[in-house]
Amino acid sequence: MVQNAGKSWNRRVQALLRGIFSPPPAPRYNERTNSPLYKMWMGTYPSNPSYLLSTGEQLGDYIKKNPQFVGKSVLDRFGPEIPFLPKILSFSKALPLQIHPDLKLAERLHKEDPKKYGDNNHKPEIAVALSKFELFAGWKPLKDIQALFKLKPLEQFVPNSRTTFDDETLRKVCMSLLSAPPTEVSTTIKELQSLPESQFGSEPYIPGLLDRLSKQYTDTDNGNLVAALLMNYLTLGPGDSVFVPADGIHAYLEGDIVECMARSDNVINTGFCPVAQRDSVELFGQALTFVPHDAQGALLPRRKSDKGVQGRTDVYAPPISEFSVLVTTLGAGETETHKAILGPSLLIVTKGCGEMKVPGDRTVEVKEGFVFFVGQGVALDFGTEKGLAVYRAYAE
Ligand SMILES: [Zn+2]
Repeated sequence: MVQNAGKSWNRRVQALLRGIFSPPPAPRYNERTNSPLYKMWMGTYPSNPSYLLSTGEQLGDYIKKNPQFVGKSVLDRFGPEIPFLPKILSFSKALPLQIHPDLKLAERLHKEDPKKYGDNNHKPEIAVALSKFELFAGWKPLKDIQALFKLKPLEQFVPNSRTTFDDETLRKVCMSLLSAPPTEVSTTIKELQSLPESQFGSEPYIPGLLDRLSKQYTDTDNGNLVAALLMNYLTLGPGDSVFVPADGIHAYLEGDIVECMARSDNVINTGFCPVAQRDSVELFGQALTFVPHDAQGALLPRRKSDKGVQGRTDVYAPPISEFSVLVTTLGAGETETHKAILGPSLLIVTKGCGEMKVPGDRTVEVKEGFVFFVGQGVALDFGTEKGLAVYRAYAE
């Protein structure tokens, strides 16, 4: 086992987490990058790699020299790599409306434009809320969208030729909202806001939400209409989680989260970003998947994990082979043991402090902001006098 922190890594992580978690909440604003987003990546992704604290060596290089740490199953499938990429994000302004291309499309885009699409891998992801977390994920039920688009200001976006309102209609509606010129977007928003709330049926929040979004990226941003009208608007609490499949539409609005995704950085953006940073509407529209189709379908359940011997460990297990994420939450004086996992894992302490017993009868300190790489086949014992929360992404 190796402590996964190097050079200024450890300090950087701690400072970041202090910013996120210390009361009173620090404003979610990163002065260094002049952006409303703090982010921290963990793992072996080349543009943002982790280093070993003890030697300064890149974690990815270390694993290539010691492939036994990833275990046979992961080695056979993914090579001497960590096939997932956990992140901590904290943001107060919508992140771009986006999808991550599936395997087939990622391969094609990577071949055509390797500079822009650096990976030939897909990027399904999960996001676990550490605070109140607002986001848009997946599509509303078709009947709700169909009802909304009977409103006068929206009729123009529905193709006349369609007799039934199905996913192909939805694709066309989405693409026509995304290609509407700026003045049409702002006019449509104004017209919608002038309607009485009662016209929005079970979604009277829509005019207010359009107002809030318009203040972030102006009332000409096409993402405002797509997010508020077509997508599920969710407010999660700490511990709640969503799963975004490959090609799944999503936009994160505000909150602190632990994210984990398959190891890729491919993204197709179309809204909530300057026009120059938007990708082709055609590409976005053609790639879209139409699951999930309701808010419930976007949620990822949290279940008890049999990896925790004393029952204080839960798991978020998305339906993909690259990773699952454990969370262990301990009160003062409590302990937990993680059974050996037969693959690589990355562990981050998000709250509290305590100790972790590792093979060789060694005990290491664990503390808010510490990140560890744990090789396969190792059981871990956790103890704390004050309380502790640990997230651990793994594959096996
Ligand atoms: Zn994403």
